[in-house]
Amino acid sequence: MRALAYFKKGDVHFTDSLPEPKLTSPKGLLISPSFTGMCGSDLHEITDGPIFMPKDGETNILSNESLPLAMGHEMSGYVKAVGPEVTKFKVGDRVVVEATISCVDKHRWPNAKNANTPMCDACKDGCENCCDYAGFSGLGVVSGGFSETMETIEHHVVKLPDFVPMDIAALIEPLSVAWHGARVAKFTEGKTALVLGSGPIGLAMTLVLKARGAKKIVVSEPASIRRELADKFHVETFDPSKHGERAIAELRSIPEGGNGFDFAFDCSGVAPTFNTGIAAIHYRGVYCNVAIWGKGINFNPMDMTLQEKNLTGSIGYTVEDFKQVVDAFEKKKIDPKECEHLITGRIKIEDGWEKGFLELINHKDTNIKILLTPNNHNELD
Ligand SMILES: [Zn+2]
Ligand SMILES: [Zn+2]
Repeated sequence: MRALAYFKKGDVHFTDSLPEPKLTSPKGLLISPSFTGMCGSDLHEITDGPIFMPKDGETNILSNESLPLAMGHEMSGYVKAVGPEVTKFKVGDRVVVEATISCVDKHRWPNAKNANTPMCDACKDGCENCCDYAGFSGLGVVSGGFSETMETIEHHVVKLPDFVPMDIAALIEPLSVAWHGARVAKFTEGKTALVLGSGPIGLAMTLVLKARGAKKIVVSEPASIRRELADKFHVETFDPSKHGERAIAELRSIPEGGNGFDFAFDCSGVAPTFNTGIAAIHYRGVYCNVAIWGKGINFNPMDMTLQEKNLTGSIGYTVEDFKQVVDAFEKKKIDPKECEHLITGRIKIEDGWEKGFLELINHKDTNIKILLTPNNHNELD
């Protein structure tokens, strides 16, 4: 089949001869992806990987699969085939696929190295994103959504409301990353929030916090092009580079009372955003890291201890986040029209390297989400 596949570090290209996936489980479904988003983690895999992908000559511990594998973990699509034990879906259903692969999926590959190990504690508690063996469809375990056909199981599939277009549905994945962050941080309606960074996840976080009834949202971002994107969501934006050493004091003065924010969400992941996030929340406030960090930093625990601040982190999502995001669309708390601002390109998988990854590498600041159209379904929407 046609796919944009990872062959090895630095080598991702289009192929028309990747083997078509088969159903590995009676609860399995084949999906025909409509739109699949390109993501920062895909780029990392290309420039610094393999991180999740199997190393050359090795196989994935869960699936036994080796390279090449189709990339893509942010997909919407149509159900193409269902296994005999699938009860909630039928061929032709419009769906979104949650990409985490964990102990929940082990039964799909009875011959793999890890098939007979017990389910890990995180998976037993429904925290599959924290699984000891976690990987993704499209990032290491099996082929993903940059392909004509992908396989998953019923557990990972959520039905789409009719009024959510397929391209917007591909954004449910980054929205779920943000939704999970808000859930882990225990964000509640009527609270104030500082969002650090307005890249794809910072912007998704902004939409999610709006949906969850934030009283005030301030997006702090030094790059003007990115700040202008946040402006489109009608939230307050802040340029830290304009204020120098006064930036933290200025930020703390914005929420009513002038003593800082209830929550800070770090969607950037560098020392200045960490320090600003911790300093800009009030006593017992919550700093939540949603970013993937390249390297560590110095941190004095007294910065949180003296005012009993909370420090937490959020990784990925579970299918529960996907269900809650879809529910937020249904309740009109997320507006599909507003989400359109996140999409900066729609291209064929044949052009995925040239017009997709290279575009993301060379024009990082102007691109948010480039979507691939593996099956050119557009006319069906
Ligand atoms: Zn992603
Ligand atoms: Zn597990």
